Amino acid sequence: MIESSFAKASAADADPGRRDFIRDIVREDLAAGRHTAIRTRFPPEPNGYLHIGHAKAICLDFGIAQEFGGACNLRFDDTNPAREDPEYVEAIKDDVRWLGFAWAQLRHASDYFEVFYRSARKLIEDGHAYVCDLSAEQVREFRGTLTEPGRASPYRDRGVAENLDLFGRMRAGEFPDGSRTLRAKIDMASGNINLRDPALYRIKHVEHQNTGNDWPIYPMYDYAHSLSDAIEGITHSLCTLEFEDHRPLYDWCVDKVDLPNHPQLWDFLPARGLPTAPAKPRQIEFSRLNINYTVMSKRKLVAMVEEGLVDGWDDPRMPTLQGLRRRGLTPSSLRLFAQRVGISKQNSLIDYSVLEGCVREDLDAHAPRRLAALDPLKLVIDNLDADHVESIAFPNHPKDESFGTRTVPFSRELWIEREDFMREPVKGFHRLVPGGEVRLRGVGIVRCHDVVMEGDSVAAVHCTLDATTRHGMPGADRKVKGTIHWVCAKHAIAAEVRLYDRLFDVADPDAEDDGNTYRDRINQDSRRSVQGWVEPAAANADPETHFQFERIGYFVADRRDHTPFHPVFNRTATLRDTWAKAGK
Ligand code: ATP
Ligand code: MG
Repeated sequence: MIESSFAKASAADADPGRRDFIRDIVREDLAAGRHTAIRTRFPPEPNGYLHIGHAKAICLDFGIAQEFGGACNLRFDDTNPAREDPEYVEAIKDDVRWLGFAWAQLRHASDYFEVFYRSARKLIEDGHAYVCDLSAEQVREFRGTLTEPGRASPYRDRGVAENLDLFGRMRAGEFPDGSRTLRAKIDMASGNINLRDPALYRIKHVEHQNTGNDWPIYPMYDYAHSLSDAIEGITHSLCTLEFEDHRPLYDWCVDKVDLPNHPQLWDFLPARGLPTAPAKPRQIEFSRLNINYTVMSKRKLVAMVEEGLVDGWDDPRMPTLQGLRRRGLTPSSLRLFAQRVGISKQNSLIDYSVLEGCVREDLDAHAPRRLAALDPLKLVIDNLDADHVESIAFPNHPKDESFGTRTVPFSRELWIEREDFMREPVKGFHRLVPGGEVRLRGVGIVRCHDVVMEGDSVAAVHCTLDATTRHGMPGADRKVKGTIHWVCAKHAIAAEVRLYDRLFDVADPDAEDDGNTYRDRINQDSRRSVQGWVEPAAANADPETHFQFERIGYFVADRRDHTPFHPVFNRTATLRDTWAKAGK
């Protein structure tokens, strides 16, 4: 049952006292009676895999709903069919569940295409939208700049009847891609360029994963997003800061369409848990998560996969949730990370070590211990018989008895870690040296009396075990400076161990100052594979079981490749931060 201690979701995480400016707003809104229940949503575009930045948004959207007794929807903002793929939809659902969250309802913006369409006709009737025949390039020319106002489109004053007719024909598929748009009629002189008659619809004859070929026109993001929020009764629509300038347009769409007062626009929707009347949602922006030694733009992640710079979306070095999961990060470590990073409006760069610190903290508390030798050196105990075998009880966790114990086989020949022996010891080296003593963990004290060389390298060390230092014997407590771990050579299982490190070897892989790009900055040591030996209880674990290999680091049985017959472990994190020390 140890593994299940990584469990789920967790009311335990949902600390009702947690504070940040968004939670403060929610508290205030509830206290003032502006809402009786909170509704949020996480709205990914299914055009790529989720990354750790999304985890921050997920923990916020779902976390707030949990903490305030509300509900959070998972909504796919699938209004851009050309870039979307059902493979992403499935992966996103999987990732959200894995992070430990459950959505109240699963929605798609495409569920509401008819509402958007009817709403657009209403906007036309009310004089708030018009069909524009300018090409994309002309629209750009007319739009003006930050310092110059835009110019009105010659089609801006088309009559309602003509607009309705043209929009109907756009919908009927009469016009080619890009030949017309439906635009909001707002203000071509606005200081906010988003309000200079933004497009609400464009013509795109492309098949959609949910609606097939029903629609040759697709709504633009701001329009679809704001109305989807309103339809679902979202009270607090949380998004990242780049949408701050879009908020006036978001509000404009919600206000001008005014769903609550126009049931004919939406009441044909199957109820399926929708609130009885759409709401007026409030958009609130927070800063994106940025982490050093990482790239997080979906475009670059796609490029790295396509160019073979990494081994796919779930390469354990990728910042995707699939990659982090395969690397051995746990849902609770990511939730802890989101909590530590916090929510604010200040853009900041989080140090990669914060993430590693979170996973170390979680695994230190929750990962059972196992023994492994990754760079093995043979140690022979000459005063044991060749057929000597015993089982030694080891605690699975040094600080938590509830993890129980297991037995570890022990016999005359062991594997130890090569770096635990030094033929010519440097000052301060307290482990095994020729003529010296060391404690073998769980066994007793051995003294090295012989070293077998093979050319320049040590092939084996021969020792004698001091029987008086064994468990229950009078010398059991005798002190020596070093204690090392071991695995029994006769019983150990060969394992492939993948030693992962940070994918980039510079803090800012995106920098554009020296003519290099992130492609040139891949840490060439970020993936090494070694053959090591693990105790049987590690080899027999299920895929995705987390362990601390004592004195080495945190590892996870690879979720794709691990079997008891061919164990494969991925290094999740070293025991300590080696980067800080190296001054990298
Ligand atoms: P793109 O705009 O390149 O398609 P995106 O990362 O914005 O990518 P979305 O699918 O639109 O992807 O994101 C879904 C939600 O996740 C949005 O609300 C977005 O604000 C949030 N989000 C995305 N990246 C981050 C990040 N780095 N930190 C926090 N939240 C993020
Ligand atoms: Mg986006």
